[in-house]
Amino acid sequence: MPPSVNESSPNTNLAGHRALHILSGVAGTIMIVEDEPAVARGVQVALEREGYDVSVQPTGEDAIANLADAAPDLIVLDVRLPGMDGFEVLRQLRRETRAPVLFLTARSDEVDKVVGLEMGADDYLVKPFSVRELVSRIKALLRRAYGELADTQTGRTLRRGDLVIDLERRRVTRDGERIGLTTTEFDLLRHLASRPGRVYTRAQLLELVRDYDDALEQDERTINVHISHIRDKVEPDPSQPRYIRTVRGVGYAFAED
Ligand code: CA
Repeated sequence: MPPSVNESSPNTNLAGHRALHILSGVAGTIMIVEDEPAVARGVQVALEREGYDVSVQPTGEDAIANLADAAPDLIVLDVRLPGMDGFEVLRQLRRETRAPVLFLTARSDEVDKVVGLEMGADDYLVKPFSVRELVSRIKALLRRAYGELADTQTGRTLRRGDLVIDLERRRVTRDGERIGLTTTEFDLLRHLASRPGRVYTRAQLLELVRDYDDALEQDERTINVHISHIRDKVEPDPSQPRYIRTVRGVGYAFAED
């Protein structure tokens, strides 16, 4: 029998939490991709003062190589980098992460390109910028991307209808009735519920649970099995899911209302 959520030890949770800083109430993890040490350092210090975990990658190649380990909730990306430029880095990062990206541009003529990007930089600042402005943009982006969960003072509980997900105690109740979920099930549910309406592919969800289970043994069908178990537990009628919807040919999304 798999361990239930409240019995799980901190050790089994550590790895899985890497990609879920925002959701677990930490201010968030930010990756800075910037080759100028002075700029990178200034931004890093300011963000760490705000409680963020910060990693600095001096090149785009480093950013891509370290993406999985850094598991950023947000990426600050310089346009002008040695080797691969910021646009190419964004294109490649977007295959792996949907974390919001804030571009740093050196000249206003780069701004047109940033704004016109179909892959979506989420915001940009033109150098020289004030660090205070950068911090406030980052907070806004995190709020936009992760909702109330980006605020460390709130967001301890997610509510959708009569379903209540207590992030701190890792407890789920429906109509006040406690629902026992495994660690993996809880994290999948929490991930989906934290961004209602957002569609997650099975590959993305598999990446999320990879740290818990022996992922080498797994393929994306594993996710279907987990989702099916979650539905059996949380849905009033698992054959007519109200909370977790199947998006045909893509994956799953939590209901928006
Ligand atoms: Ca640069």
